[in-house]
Amino acid sequence: MIKANDPSLKSWIEVPENSDFPIQNIPFGIATVAGDTARVVSRIGDKVIDLKVLYDFGYLADLHFALEDFDTDVLNNMMLNGKSGTRNLRNRISELFEVSNNELRNNKNHLEQALIDIDAVEMLLPVRVGDYTDFYSSEQHAYNVGCMFRDPNNALLPNWKHIPVGYHGRASSIVVSGTPFHRPKGQQKPSEDESPVYGPCKLLDFELEMAFVTYQGKELGDTISTDEADDYIFGLTLFNDWSARDIQKWEYIPLGPFLAKNFASHTSPWIVTLDALTPFRVSGPVQDPKVLSYLEYSGDKHIDINLQVSIVPENGLEKEVSNSNYLHMYWNMNQQLAHHTVNGCNINAGDMMASGTISGPEEGMYGSMLEISWKGTKPVSMPDGTERKFIQDNDTVVMRGYSQKDGVRIGFGEVKAKLLPAK
Ligand code: MN
Repeated sequence: MIKANDPSLKSWIEVPENSDFPIQNIPFGIATVAGDTARVVSRIGDKVIDLKVLYDFGYLADLHFALEDFDTDVLNNMMLNGKSGTRNLRNRISELFEVSNNELRNNKNHLEQALIDIDAVEMLLPVRVGDYTDFYSSEQHAYNVGCMFRDPNNALLPNWKHIPVGYHGRASSIVVSGTPFHRPKGQQKPSEDESPVYGPCKLLDFELEMAFVTYQGKELGDTISTDEADDYIFGLTLFNDWSARDIQKWEYIPLGPFLAKNFASHTSPWIVTLDALTPFRVSGPVQDPKVLSYLEYSGDKHIDINLQVSIVPENGLEKEVSNSNYLHMYWNMNQQLAHHTVNGCNINAGDMMASGTISGPEEGMYGSMLEISWKGTKPVSMPDGTERKFIQDNDTVVMRGYSQKDGVRIGFGEVKAKLLPAK
């Protein structure tokens, strides 16, 4: 077992009940405190741990890190130390804050500088995303979309159970939770016999997804196997892949999503390491037909992560619209990464790869308004008496996620964003 994952560990930092951030989590992020530069941070309970300060005071000596790894506005440098580097770092942080350790606890001056209240920091985008890939790996989601736009008897396209289908998205418009964004505008074709029109998107939707962030990969031409994939995955975030359904419907043939997807995507600020999530790994579905050998895998590679989505109208009460789980994936991350690199495509530290909309097998578990409202035919009633088929101006969408087992809850916090009217 990874030392920092021990369920019996307790911290001398107070951890509120049902916190996503016990000492077994130790996620990584980037924060600024008013008037100071960005730096690498971790978190226990509601205390943010300044790793630049810990490094300056010598608490992270002998771990082969340099000041530039922590005195920076992205995690990319730190991640170049690879899986063993970040695993040792996480173990060291765990050790420092474990209840019997007094190294830092008894040094009032160091402590005052190293620990910051969560309310006093601004969390920034954690990585410089070089490349963003979005998969389409939830069978229920692919089935639902196939039923709505094609034929329930042939809902899945012939390639779907042979290939973890994906596309290259846009990295520049990935922003951190809390960043407001505007309703996109673009071309739509309202009906078969009308000409296309230009205007604000009318069918603005969220997509409930998880994204994994990669370490530096291999050279161009090399591949990463399903067995090796764990060593190239740093951690995961909650990911909202906003989608303009009316723009998407008109533009996507034959090359796939374009302007319907690249106006904004939101990620949660804390990267929860794959190491921290290891205790929550579970088996996946039986894959029939049998996959090609490069997509075969051994061991439990899916992860049990409870996921919720809520809509909060301006000055209104929150309404939960989805309760899903990351384990409802057909293809797991190891298969996605193996497929992504099977042709020799290289990956870099900080690349983000999103799961695709995560829809569970029952109503109430669907990961987009397209499915929840079934193309607008089943509106959702809000506490204030209004209805939602899709997302309205000034609505805030919040996604939350956590894993729980053996009395330990490892969570992601939330990813939220407010939709502003079209510019
Ligand atoms: Mn998506």
